[in-house]
Amino acid sequence: MASFDLHCHSNISDGLLPPQEVVRRAAANGVTVLALTDHDDVAGLSAARTEAEALGVRLINGVEISVTWRSHQIHIVGLGFDCDNPVLVQALQAMRAGRYARAERIAAELELRGIRGALQGAARYAGGSIIGRTHFARFLVEQGIAKDVHAVFDHYLGYGKPGYVPHQWASLADALAWIHGAQGVAVLAHPFRYRLSSNERSRLYQDFKALGGAGIEVCYGSASLDERRDAAQAARRHGFLASCGSDFHGPGESAVDVGCVAPLPPDLTPIWHNWPGLQGAN
Ligand code: AMP
Ligand code: MN
Ligand code: MN
Ligand code: MN
Repeated sequence: MASFDLHCHSNISDGLLPPQEVVRRAAANGVTVLALTDHDDVAGLSAARTEAEALGVRLINGVEISVTWRSHQIHIVGLGFDCDNPVLVQALQAMRAGRYARAERIAAELELRGIRGALQGAARYAGGSIIGRTHFARFLVEQGIAKDVHAVFDHYLGYGKPGYVPHQWASLADALAWIHGAQGVAVLAHPFRYRLSSNERSRLYQDFKALGGAGIEVCYGSASLDERRDAAQAARRHGFLASCGSDFHGPGESAVDVGCVAPLPPDLTPIWHNWPGLQGAN
């Protein structure tokens, strides 16, 4: 029986393990179809593919694109696209440059609060790959400023906190156009991780649908039972395909391990329903 995990991270973005190790760990946990979905970067896919082929895991090209929608930071997972598509590659490159400029601003805000050396510290954790808040969080934990990554988000890096800087990510329309232009499908990631009113959430579903968004994550690492039920309801109401993924970032840092996601409700149509060889799999 196939076992799917269509959302996880390697150290190409803010995960802890190299792409090959993510694949190995997924295989050990019984995953047979895996999408590596690093933030704003596809550089891990080729190493992941080599390992996946060796282990008999089917690797789906993936990426998690950061979007600004009505001033909220929203994440769109792209799946099954051509990762050499020049428009997509170029767009992701520009996003990573924007991330670096944002990191400089985050470091400047932290400096004002007496936290020195955060840009260098975060860059050390990023190891030359994309830089994000998680890398700052790891540095602040190392410095003894907070007990763990979650606490750093609660006190320093989360929305409205002292080290939070507003940033203009891709538009929803652009992110979907890049994914579709590269023959991929778009999935709305972790729909209940955003601070949206129920009206705003409905509006997001409508906008995403109108732009050709295909799927919504129904089962994901941080989702409660109620959130899974509500996401399933949204899939039915708005006609979305259902996806599932752990959002694994690393041992000890994530809600669940790679491959550990609840099964999709059987009445929903999975995002893979028309992927070659996977029709009928659930
Ligand atoms: P960025 O893309 O740089 O804005 O960072 C967003 C990433 O930070 C997410 O993908 C998560 O990995 C992580 N993150 C966001 N909020 C939290 C939180 N409350 N606790 C731990 N990690 C978080
Ligand atoms: Mn992340
Ligand atoms: Mn995300
Ligand atoms: Mn993610």
